[in-house]
Amino acid sequence: MMQISRPELSITDTLAACINGASRDAYKQRLVMAENEILRQAELYCRLGEQGTLYQITALLSGSSEDPVVLADLKKSELIRLYEYYLRKKKTGRELYDTLLGSSDKCPFCGGLGRPRNLDHYLPKAFFSQFSILPYNLIPACRDCNMEGKGDAYAQTQEDQILHPFLDRSHFFEQQWIFARYIQEDSDQPGVFEFYTSPPSQWSDIDKARVNKHFCEFDIGARYSVKAAQEISDVFAQRRLFSCVDEFKRTNLEPVIANASFANYWKRVMYIGLLNTL
Ligand SMILES: [Zn+2]
Repeated sequence: MMQISRPELSITDTLAACINGASRDAYKQRLVMAENEILRQAELYCRLGEQGTLYQITALLSGSSEDPVVLADLKKSELIRLYEYYLRKKKTGRELYDTLLGSSDKCPFCGGLGRPRNLDHYLPKAFFSQFSILPYNLIPACRDCNMEGKGDAYAQTQEDQILHPFLDRSHFFEQQWIFARYIQEDSDQPGVFEFYTSPPSQWSDIDKARVNKHFCEFDIGARYSVKAAQEISDVFAQRRLFSCVDEFKRTNLEPVIANASFANYWKRVMYIGLLNTL
């Protein structure tokens, strides 16, 4: 749920690297011939992504023994190979792959709980091979968030779409929709945090459903609770040094909240939950 800067590399760059890496002239020529159609598809992706309607692009369903032509005269397997071999393995492409992977040191799906380890296809290449090397479709993701390890799921309705860290509208990233409840049963012991979603009431039902989907898909509640459990012992010990709770809030809680890098960062959400309970 963290927005990250759009990639500086374009589809023209990644395609050029693949063309340069190809050794057979006939294959190079076929990629050159497909360029206009690849660019056209990239424009469509960007437009729908900014509207939050990428789900409208039809998935290509094919049997495991089939290898249909997807774009220009390029088959599905050839488009996937552009990514798997020419972008990820060949030296000319790998430099661009590493640039895309290194563009964020925080995984945007979980808001930096993990560091990116792979590029993840927002629309999985198994069903949307026309976007296999489109930089906007390649999200630097941590191991726990990597969607391709989860069976290449994709959204079939608007409300089922997880947030797109490059293209989705800014209110998803700038407004708070994750909250924490602090539950302390024994005043001598640190309590626990429960995280939940509560999107702003003026949001559309679709936007509310989308953040709930994102929260569940990446198991954010449980993963935020683990971070909060590691943090609370220290905070609890600090609290005991203050006789005045307002002073504790002012010096220990409010600065963390004010300095958080984005609205739904786990620590910000946790500290707001604590501030409202103490
Ligand atoms: Zn992650």
